[in-house]
Amino acid sequence: MFRCTRCGSEFTEFHYTCPRDDSALLAVDNHMSWRPEGAGIWRYRDMLPVERSISLSEGGTPLVRRRDSQEEVYLKVEGDSPTGSFKDRGTSVVISDASNRGYQSAVVASTGNMGASVAAYCAYANIAARVFIPPGIPEEKIAQISAYGAELVPVEGGFGDAVRRAREEAASGAYLASTGLNPYFIEGLKTIAFELFEQMGVPDRIVVPTGTGGLLTAIFKGFRELRSLGVVDRLPQMIAVQAADVAPIVEAWEGGREPRAPAGGGHTIATAILVKVPFNGLSAIEAMNASGGYGVTVTDHEIVQAIRVLGQEGVFAEPAAAAAMAALGRIDRRPGDRTVLMITGSGLKDPTAVLRRDV
Ligand SMILES: [Zn+2]
Repeated sequence: MFRCTRCGSEFTEFHYTCPRDDSALLAVDNHMSWRPEGAGIWRYRDMLPVERSISLSEGGTPLVRRRDSQEEVYLKVEGDSPTGSFKDRGTSVVISDASNRGYQSAVVASTGNMGASVAAYCAYANIAARVFIPPGIPEEKIAQISAYGAELVPVEGGFGDAVRRAREEAASGAYLASTGLNPYFIEGLKTIAFELFEQMGVPDRIVVPTGTGGLLTAIFKGFRELRSLGVVDRLPQMIAVQAADVAPIVEAWEGGREPRAPAGGGHTIATAILVKVPFNGLSAIEAMNASGGYGVTVTDHEIVQAIRVLGQEGVFAEPAAAAAMAALGRIDRRPGDRTVLMITGSGLKDPTAVLRRDV
């Protein structure tokens, strides 16, 4: 079953978005069971609503404790995923669904990482992929998408325009693999919660670089499911990190209103979280509120500094991933707390960002 994150309507049939108001849907499954077996995200197959068919051994990423810290701060290193970002968890589930249903083509709108992920899984699944990208995406990401054999379609405007084009294309029969527009994507991402639980129990808080809001939504959904099954008895505090000039979710949380696009140009070197109209924004804010969490913004200068701080820990992060570390100093912590920073993508995705002197 699927439930709308805005109007609460429930649907037994799969839809990309709510047929009533076009908002994001979340899968609601009453037949889950906690029986971890095997490796990677499919270790949690009894918690997932899709049969495994396409996998590149995603999931099972390292949890590294910061060494030069008196407190317990852990880095969840999602850059160690098959295509270098956390997206692979969701893509494995989404492209398994596309393959199980016999689709020959898939489309995705992307700021780079999702495009690379969908391109890789589609290549492996023998599904033709078209990737709609806005301007300003690092060349390394474009090269990666191209290497997997996907068709790149540059789109004028921003991410929202790329999404519109992908949806138009999907209306003529391609599978729509975009994050936020396919509830199965969140299902793959929620396995981060299951993995964290097995690696460390329930942390006190999780700091999440936030673009569409899907990752934060998914991690909290995973912990809630563990609680509903009686596996855990508490939930982590969820903290969203956004770039200072593109922070629709943090601003909406602060203002007690719905997310809306920033008034100005809105730019950041953290292109992976450069999303002005966040499709999973409502559910992310709901998770922040329900968990006693909140939102933090960081500047591009702080992000570049944070790439260096992570580098000293032996972890190379792309700018969006380093945003979690950049936020750490602004997050309330008590002695003995355990904090997880989501390091969402590899530094190899955007390797020269650390050399930027102009931010
Ligand atoms: Zn709805």
